[in-house]
Amino acid sequence: MRIEEDLKLDFKDVLIRPKRSTLTSRSEVDISREYSFRNSGGKYRGIPIIAANMDTVGTYEMAQSLSALRLSTALHKHYDEASLIAFFKSQPPDATVFYSLGITGADYEKFRRVKNAAGDAIAYLCVDVANGYTKSFVDFIRKVRDAYPKVTMMAGNVVTGEMTEELILLGVDIVKVGIGPGSVCTTRKVAGVGYPQLSAIIECGDAAHGLGGLICSDGGCSSPGDLAKAFGGGADFIMLGGMLAGHDECHGEIEEHGGQSKLRFYGMSSRTAMEKYSGGVANYRASEGKEVLIDYRGPVEGTVQEILGGVRSACTYVGARRLKELSKRTTFIRVARQLNEVFGA
Ligand code: 5GP
Repeated sequence: MRIEEDLKLDFKDVLIRPKRSTLTSRSEVDISREYSFRNSGGKYRGIPIIAANMDTVGTYEMAQSLSALRLSTALHKHYDEASLIAFFKSQPPDATVFYSLGITGADYEKFRRVKNAAGDAIAYLCVDVANGYTKSFVDFIRKVRDAYPKVTMMAGNVVTGEMTEELILLGVDIVKVGIGPGSVCTTRKVAGVGYPQLSAIIECGDAAHGLGGLICSDGGCSSPGDLAKAFGGGADFIMLGGMLAGHDECHGEIEEHGGQSKLRFYGMSSRTAMEKYSGGVANYRASEGKEVLIDYRGPVEGTVQEILGGVRSACTYVGARRLKELSKRTTFIRVARQLNEVFGA
């Protein structure tokens, strides 16, 4: 047993220090980014925020709405092949929509068939597992990269620099970073495993950027300020679940609870999801997600404007004319934890 004594930080442990700026208005800030991907050679331009591949949020409807706003979507894994083929074929060339898959043989065969039919319309892939440290995950990444050299591949999740480097050298373009921070994730409670998200971003970002790779911070953003901190810490993309839940574009029925309209939102390893897709929780495992009721919030566009407004505001506070400059101009201030957080008072 060993204890790491280094300080590790979450979003709530810091604030961004204001700096002198010549910007006079938030409207002067450009929050789009351009990337050339290290391994696929593909090019990207857009606002680097991605809807999570959860079945409530990573929907076709979400992809349509977010593409129009220049954001991206990782579709969930449970759509059937015919609809996926039709959807990808209908997309404009500048839409950034990720096909998501796990690492089973069935996942790979389904992807192969859909990709064969949809061709170059599928340019982005999201290989998604809860634990990106297994040999089977690494073997799968190698196999996909060998078979599809031109597909831009996002893969994870990991939280440490050395695994980020390994994945990039294996052919991943965007390493997905985050174990345990998700709003409906219970991994930290159930398994006691995780890593404070801001430190994971800083460490994995540093490792990826040194090799010309990129990272996507996945999970833990609950307000626009958290996105500003994630970008400030070095995230190239940010994936959002809970912040995009509760909208017209999400799957699920609107329910009335105490006079309030609500939508159900649940983790993809929750009992709800496992009962829906795997016939229940297998007897050798525990669910690592929970279900919550989220206020119904109408079309996603309003929420996106709020999020982007917050990120623009952060840029003006530190004098970053473009999102690209935000991390260079970010100094974090550590804040003392509130006693009531520590003691649960
Ligand atoms: P959020 O933006 O809601 O904080 O986090 C979304 C992320 O939580 C997803 O992209 C995914 O990585 C993670 N996640 C989704 N469902 C589950 C789950 O059931 N268990 C765990 N451990 N993580 C989940």
